[in-house]
Amino acid sequence: MAVLSVLTVDLHSHSRVSDGLLPPVDLARRAADNGVDLLALTDHDETSGLADARAVAESSAIRFIDGVEISIAWGGLQVHIVGLDFDTRDAALNAGLGSIRAGRVARAKRMSEELEKFGLPDCLAGASRHAENPNLIGRSHFARYLVEIGVCRDMHSVFESFLVPGKPGYVTHQWATLAEAVGWILGAGGVAVIAHPGRYKFSRLETRALFDEFKGLGGQAIEVISGNFSPEHFAGFSRLALEYGFLASCGSDFHGPEESRVDVGKNVRLPDKLTPVWTAFH
Ligand code: AMP
Ligand code: MN
Ligand code: MN
Ligand code: MN
Repeated sequence: MAVLSVLTVDLHSHSRVSDGLLPPVDLARRAADNGVDLLALTDHDETSGLADARAVAESSAIRFIDGVEISIAWGGLQVHIVGLDFDTRDAALNAGLGSIRAGRVARAKRMSEELEKFGLPDCLAGASRHAENPNLIGRSHFARYLVEIGVCRDMHSVFESFLVPGKPGYVTHQWATLAEAVGWILGAGGVAVIAHPGRYKFSRLETRALFDEFKGLGGQAIEVISGNFSPEHFAGFSRLALEYGFLASCGSDFHGPEESRVDVGKNVRLPDKLTPVWTAFH
């Protein structure tokens, strides 16, 4: 156990097959350069980058964990559930992820129509040029296009003025349910993790309701450490992990060198008092 706590672990990262900026092989190489020992690639609703990332990671003596970040709707908001260490061939999981990706394509058309009403034409075509994987289009690709054409200065300002509830380009969407996402992950032999629980605009009570329902469904872990968390988040979610008996996960949520504040593998380490999620890996 003492040895584990000195490992460099990043269990939340993105590549170009979703809304990251690096190809999976470059992400794995960068993780190796940054001294990562245990790495998961967790692209949004997509597993097609895992084989390439695994090959490079394993050739660099990194222990690679298959991952995915599933988009769900809960409590009227978009919530993310990370799946780790599952069977990537599982039929129900793959069908579920396929249906979310199809929903994303339809949602992108609606987002583009909303932006057009606001006087910004052809955003779907523009965003699509930023989406390496045509089946996995999302708000980041639209945001990069809005920066490209000079409508916003950077990604941060896009998400202040566009693409969020009440702002141009935002559309409500039917994502998967919490029960579906947890069911697919557990059905594929994986570990289900609530991603960045501090990022949702939930009250304390709503957060507890989410944790209760997740635990009731068999969810095992929460991210205590995430790229954009504050020290108050670390402390608060450490306490909640202990109270609920959740395993603890940590990751950078790295998307790309120019965009992410925390590089792959450069996330804060887990506090020693918590049980790391990797104790549940195969
Ligand atoms: P989507 O899954 O299409 O709704 O897009 C969500 C993605 O947008 C997240 O995974 C982030 O990569 C990105 N995103 C959301 N909010 C922000 C923000 N405030 N700043 C930068 N990126 C954001
Ligand atoms: Mn993202
Ligand atoms: Mn997320
Ligand atoms: Mn993420």
